[in-house]
Amino acid sequence: MLLGMSENLLITADWVLPVSSAALRDGAVEVRDGRIHSVGPAAELLGESEAERRIDLGAAALLPGLVNTHAHLELTALRGFLEEPDFFGWIRRLTETKYETLDEEDLLCSARLGVLEAVRAGVTTIGDIADAGASLSALSEGGLRAVLYQEVFGPDPAQAEESLLGLLDKLESHQAAAAERVTIGISPHAPYTVSGRLFKLLAELALKEGYPVSVHAAESAAEGEFVRMAQGPFAEYLRSRDIAVEPLGVSTITYFDELGLLATAPLLAHCIDCSADDLRRIAASGSSIAHCPKSNAKLAHGVAPLGAMLEAGVRVGLGSDGVVCNNTCDLLEEARFAALLQRAGSESVCGEAGDFLRLMTLGGAEALGLADSIGSLDAGKLADLCAVDLAAPHFQPVIDVEAAVLYSASARDIVLTVVEGEVLYDGKAMARMDPDGLKEPLAAIRDKLNPAG
Ligand SMILES: [Zn+2]
Repeated sequence: MLLGMSENLLITADWVLPVSSAALRDGAVEVRDGRIHSVGPAAELLGESEAERRIDLGAAALLPGLVNTHAHLELTALRGFLEEPDFFGWIRRLTETKYETLDEEDLLCSARLGVLEAVRAGVTTIGDIADAGASLSALSEGGLRAVLYQEVFGPDPAQAEESLLGLLDKLESHQAAAAERVTIGISPHAPYTVSGRLFKLLAELALKEGYPVSVHAAESAAEGEFVRMAQGPFAEYLRSRDIAVEPLGVSTITYFDELGLLATAPLLAHCIDCSADDLRRIAASGSSIAHCPKSNAKLAHGVAPLGAMLEAGVRVGLGSDGVVCNNTCDLLEEARFAALLQRAGSESVCGEAGDFLRLMTLGGAEALGLADSIGSLDAGKLADLCAVDLAAPHFQPVIDVEAAVLYSASARDIVLTVVEGEVLYDGKAMARMDPDGLKEPLAAIRDKLNPAG
């Protein structure tokens, strides 16, 4: 199969799942000039097609490209490095390692590995939280679509202006280097690493310049303790650095609302510690949520109220979070885990298989503000697609195709990843990336992280 350039394609498969409409048996999608030209029965499209090239997937399901709304590509090489359960200790060790052990080249290699893993997993769009230019380079090279949120830290209100100036510098260089498929945004990290003053300055900047915003929110009990009572490990740490912290007596979401941050309609990552009132505020402000059920579980933070989020009318997508707290970027597995958690819990809204397929595609596109151009297989949208092979024994027999994809598939079953009509992965080869080229630098990173091993 030819790889790596946008082509006019006719792709046929036993199943086409447009997500915005019912599954099609023996379907086809025609791609012209990077966009979806038509979706319909293969027999009809074959007759009319002007495509130069035909891809017949056979026993497979063709879907919109998967949308990962919350990732940390630069931290991919830390997979398996931080397996401790205490969140404060985890975050401290992560920050130290990122700044003291890994250099620019390491971060670039790490981000490239993240992009490679995503492409092979059928992911075509990523909401990436990045603290350096490595991610932007890796995304541009790899051909993925992304909203790249430049991360900002600054817990000391006295240094808020300084943090803002640092951010403006980075944004300027990102804009100069930005690739066509990458939108630049900003990400104040979290309530315990960003002062109220800095949050306000960032919200003003975002509203004035139209930057999309993403922020970690209502993720842990330690965060709740910090925001409500100015107590716990985050408060103690800031006080040890002579930074004053005051109890706010409200939830993170109320705090963000009162600060003016929700006015930027941010993408809120996690939202575990969320009341009905919080969800009402999120929905009313047009903010969205990156639901990261596996990361939440692995870090022992609890289960986010997905059913209540959807009932409140919030736009929700799925996020793998960094593989440092999930260990794989696998949206199919994330959707399966989300569905199983809802069923295992006591929430009344469980949803059907199709609802969870929507979360990992159109829901994610909505959460990132990109639903006009991606997220479903509809004529006119950009041709971002992926396909799940259904021929393997663990799918047989395929009685309900949506259930087969949700409950039996994982990233390892992806056999096609296309962004804007460009075949990035055909189930065997990568168009733009050389996986072998990463082996040596990754081995060097592993030795740095674990010199004794
Ligand atoms: Zn995160």
